[in-house]
Amino acid sequence: MFTREFEADRCPLCGSIMMDGRCADNTCEFHWRPAEPEELLEFETGEDTQREAG
Ligand SMILES: [Zn+2]
Repeated sequence: MFTREFEADRCPLCGSIMMDGRCADNTCEFHWRPAEPEELLEFETGEDTQREAG
């Protein structure tokens, strides 16, 4: 079971809805080539700097 903190339902590329790593936007790369969890991690640890509640 995949339980992660990042928004698994958001495409890191276009921001559309993702289902099982597949983007809903047919113009998005991840629509045709579903992103793998490891691949998504690269986006997770990216631009978004510490965003803790405070
Ligand atoms: Zn997308």
